[in-house]
Amino acid sequence: MSKIAPSTLRIGRRYRPNRLASDYDTLVIGSGIGGLTTAALLSDLGKKVCVLEQHYTAGGYTHSYERNGYEWDVGVHYIGDVGAQTTTRRMFDYLSQGQLRWSPMDSEYDRYYIGDKVFNARAGKQEFRDNLVLQFPDEVVAIDRYMTLLAKTGKAMAAFGMSRALSNWQYVLMWPYLRLKMPRLLFRNTYDVLSELTDNKELIAVICGQWGDMGLPPKRSTFMVHAMIARHYLHGGFYPVGGAWRIADTIIPKIQASGGEVFTYACVEEISVSGGKVSGVTMKDGHHIACDRVVSAAGISNTFQKLLPATTAEQCGYRDDLQGIEPSYAHLGVYIGLKETAQDLGLPRTNFWIYPDSDYDSAVERFIEDENAAFPVVYISFPSAKDPDYNNRHPGTSTIEIVAPAPYQWFAKWNEEVWGKRGEDYETLKAELGDRLMEYLYDKLPQLRGKVDYFEVSTPVSTNWFGGYQQGELYGLSHTPERMQQRWLRTRTRLPGLWLTGQDVLTCGVTGAMMAGMLTTSSIVGAFKMAPLMKRIFSSSARKTLPAAS
Ligand SMILES: Cc1cc2nc3c(=O)[nH]c(=O)nc-3n(C[C@H](O)[C@H](O)[C@H](O)COP(=O)(O)OP(=O)(O)OC[C@H]3O[C@@H](n4cnc5c(N)ncnc54)[C@H](O)[C@@H]3O)c2cc1C
Repeated sequence: MSKIAPSTLRIGRRYRPNRLASDYDTLVIGSGIGGLTTAALLSDLGKKVCVLEQHYTAGGYTHSYERNGYEWDVGVHYIGDVGAQTTTRRMFDYLSQGQLRWSPMDSEYDRYYIGDKVFNARAGKQEFRDNLVLQFPDEVVAIDRYMTLLAKTGKAMAAFGMSRALSNWQYVLMWPYLRLKMPRLLFRNTYDVLSELTDNKELIAVICGQWGDMGLPPKRSTFMVHAMIARHYLHGGFYPVGGAWRIADTIIPKIQASGGEVFTYACVEEISVSGGKVSGVTMKDGHHIACDRVVSAAGISNTFQKLLPATTAEQCGYRDDLQGIEPSYAHLGVYIGLKETAQDLGLPRTNFWIYPDSDYDSAVERFIEDENAAFPVVYISFPSAKDPDYNNRHPGTSTIEIVAPAPYQWFAKWNEEVWGKRGEDYETLKAELGDRLMEYLYDKLPQLRGKVDYFEVSTPVSTNWFGGYQQGELYGLSHTPERMQQRWLRTRTRLPGLWLTGQDVLTCGVTGAMMAGMLTTSSIVGAFKMAPLMKRIFSSSARKTLPAAS
């Protein structure tokens, strides 16, 4: 395998007003996968696009960072659906011009520790089903009915995606079709749907073992998003060879090839409006960039609460619309470095999900009420074990990441403080929480005690600082049934010249945000110009998958 060049992991070009061109067709706010996909596809259609990213590196939640000789990802642990020539895989191949390669995880890609029991999710539709049957032999009928529901939801997702890209009149025209294709089931809560299949609480818990992938336990989440995630990983998990930062690194050249650029340290202060339509953006340094098309990939709350002038947001009705949505939970991250390789330490290519018991919703409630209660979920991931290139870049070392929920309110008082200078109280709280989370790791892998060289903890205010969020949102908007039924959450806005993309338009996840980028591009250029592009995407072939996991 060819070696990936060591990098400082700072990708994109540093913003300076004198580096800007004067004739951009489109400005994109935010360089997450949603923004980059829109920018790259528009660039492919000959548009000159300028992406403005407030962070020091491009990629949004797909960026990676280095410290003390280690490298960690912040928002990518596994991607599904890239082991064959699926739409997802073809999109990644196309955007990265075949440069992004994928490494499969173990066939048991997720492991659920529920109380004192252990269950695994196994790659492959039939294998997944058979494995569930093996663990719950009396529940064959319920399991098969569940698999049928997953298939049904998969077909409906295309209609849901389409509904997010339509104009108002198209929406009205298409409504009978959309209603037919999107059964009520999609918008019901996950627990209600599953409890009609079985009253076996443990089976429901195993089926919902990935609830952390959307940040809502089964009694609060939408069945559609549950099913979308379950389907996404049905054929196993994959990791980007070279680390998550390779996603942005391999997409940016497409934007530059059309004369566009991805600027970092480029914080947009306001979306400018003149004569009832968009006229560009004003940067934090006061510089104005004129352009009559702006795509906001910075999230719905940022767009309508921070970036758009308050009077415009009010006049367009978005202030009222915001009442129907809420932010997703915030999270803690623990980034761990060890001075031995993943192989030497026996680290798996399997994600661990650790739950106190099978009643996930009650565990969340207990934790919100009492900070000393058990974490309702602790997720542990082993990035260096999943990346066959890691030891080329960081020889003799390995990394582990832990993610767990934490209310934003615990940290809100430090939000205005500068990163690294939040004081002793903050550091003490971080250290306490970090130590608690490390015990979850040692409990499952006791051989690691005494082997950890370095670890650091991130909090919801770190998410705000680095990711430009307002309440440490793990996944943008919360994926409640109410949110998924908000018809105004679409690629088009009521303000001429302003478009939306990213995880808030469709769903969270790298693939969800990437698909939103495709929908936004399609809305902007129209079906006629999009059709040849789609043809090109679907004729690109998946060539670079590593051999299947044993
Ligand atoms: C801990 C964690 C683990 C995850 N694990 C996975 C996983 O394993 N698999 C998976 O598929 N998904 C995972 N996700 C979810 C996934 O990473 C996101 O859903 C997806 O990357 C979101 O993409 P986006 O483009 O919508 O938003 P983002 O990536 O958040 O991009 C938004 C960008 O806008 C920028 N921005 C905001 N305000 C401004 C401004 N005023 N000016 C300029 N720029 C601005 C931000 O800095 C940011 O770069 C995870 C997320 C987290 C947090």
